[in-house]
Amino acid sequence: MPDTAPAPEPTATDPLLPERLARAITLGGPIPVAQFMAAANAHYYGTRDPLGVAGDFITAPEISQVFGELIGLWLADLWDRAGRPKAHYVELGPGRGTLAKDALRAMAKAGLGPDVHFVETSSALRTAQAKAVPNAIWHENVTTLPDDAPLLIVANEFFDALPVYQLVRRAGAWHERLVACQDTIFLPIAGKPVPDEIVPAALRDAPAGSIIESSPASVAIVRALAKRLAAQGGAALIVDYGYEGPALGETLQAIKAHGFANPFDAPGDQDLTAHVDFATLAGMAEMSGAQVYGPVAQGDFLGLLGIAERTTALARAHPDRGPDLAEAHRRLTHPTEMGALFKALALLGTGWPQPAALG
Ligand code: SAH
Repeated sequence: MPDTAPAPEPTATDPLLPERLARAITLGGPIPVAQFMAAANAHYYGTRDPLGVAGDFITAPEISQVFGELIGLWLADLWDRAGRPKAHYVELGPGRGTLAKDALRAMAKAGLGPDVHFVETSSALRTAQAKAVPNAIWHENVTTLPDDAPLLIVANEFFDALPVYQLVRRAGAWHERLVACQDTIFLPIAGKPVPDEIVPAALRDAPAGSIIESSPASVAIVRALAKRLAAQGGAALIVDYGYEGPALGETLQAIKAHGFANPFDAPGDQDLTAHVDFATLAGMAEMSGAQVYGPVAQGDFLGLLGIAERTTALARAHPDRGPDLAEAHRRLTHPTEMGALFKALALLGTGWPQPAALG
């Protein structure tokens, strides 16, 4: 039969990634967990829009417009008190562009109209972002962001998607955790032992089976942002789920259709995430010259920014949406929902004022 049909587009269940990974592991040996996670997520985000009820997970800006609006007002207030300089809005991993759209609308009302720079590797999501914010400029990574003016940076649920390395404790030594495979079944194994000195002293004698995670990719980005803020001025707001480490424990998880799945199953077809170590990011940012505020719990942060008042005002203007607005408020702020596990951390440039709600 003549080959006239166009090559099929890769689909959400593209079988090629598991096969490619399995071949690489069979030829070259087991790979670090971070390498597995990076390959899986590059494929996952590159081939779909995972957000929303029909997707795999929902994020704060998709729950309520109030989230992005309050972040826009938080930035506009800082910018105002910094003397209203020319500035660039930057968002890392903007998803569907919803947060940016809501934040830019709120900032415009406060007299702030920056140009918009998105750091996004997924072509599928860039298409969605272009619909929400048509004038954006896209970047593959933070190195090409403009260097001529202060940066107003937002990263919501971005760092949790970046790869983590894992160490596992076995028979009196720490080992790097690797991913091996049998056909296209992937499983974690303990690799070669690593020197104890690379593990924080307080955690060295952990019981067998303990796991420690670290994310050099996250540290590298935070350090680059902190250096930019120190040199150019501006602010960064990082919101994500996480803890103040270093700590023992495995947080690597897979999310599929709003539930948890085995992270070593079906690489590229489910979202791999890990909790963010805010203490490490804060320490690294400080070392690179930024002033650091927080982390504070998302519920407290949004509460201090007036989420209750904004929800009441919106519900008064749109009585039909009252119950939905109240439910969104609860999901974003209640400690058993996103209010406590999610945290906000701010990095500020040299000479920039103290941010609202994070002092
Ligand atoms: N901030 C959005 C989306 C969160 S999902 C929201 O809150 O709804 C994670 C986002 O980060 C997606 O846009 C994904 O494509 C992007 N992303 C993941 N890894 C990335 C990387 N290494 N570099 C740039 N963007 C990345």
